[in-house]
Amino acid sequence: MSPLIGVLALQGDVREHTEGLRAAGADVLAVRRVSELDRVDGLVIPGGESTAMSRLLGVFDLYDPLVSRLREGLPAYGSCAGMIMLASNILDTRPDARHLDALDVTVRRNAFGRQVASFETDLEFAGITDAPGADPMRAVFIRAPWVESVGDGVEVLATVPTGPAAGRVVAVRQANVLATSFHPEVTGDHRVHGYFVDLVRAA
Ligand code: GLN
Repeated sequence: MSPLIGVLALQGDVREHTEGLRAAGADVLAVRRVSELDRVDGLVIPGGESTAMSRLLGVFDLYDPLVSRLREGLPAYGSCAGMIMLASNILDTRPDARHLDALDVTVRRNAFGRQVASFETDLEFAGITDAPGADPMRAVFIRAPWVESVGDGVEVLATVPTGPAAGRVVAVRQANVLATSFHPEVTGDHRVHGYFVDLVRAA
């Protein structure tokens, strides 16, 4: 049976994640209400703008229910703004922005700076590109955050391979919570969505 995976649909690139998840074999539900959140086996928090998403979680009365479900172990995947939302500590955000505290990392918002605010690179992703014969992953960064430090129990899955940001952590996993600084939903490579669908099936 296909797992039912929600895409938080308040703001951001909801359609692209929906396509990626479907291509990876999941059924998908757009989540805007608690009744929808209650039904899903996992949740994707898309890229977009984390401070806007934070405000909308309050407007839609989803903030507390989402925090509760994450504490109960709901598998979640956040890309870019979604990574920021899941993190426990955010640098360079607005003082009134709220986040979900589901991933023990410190994330720096808009970390790559003005010169290279948006860029693409090929990178290695642990558990995906280390499969025999697998290609590297094309990673698209759009005003992306990076992970500045990780807590115990957080596994680093990808870093930037070259250039001024070489070595910066851009994909992490802690138990059932996955996050990437980049946007696999925009490249047509559905391997990160497949990784998350497998994680939800196993949970
Ligand atoms: N810079 C955005 C933020 O702070 C994230 C950008 C993105 O999701 N592409 O939320």
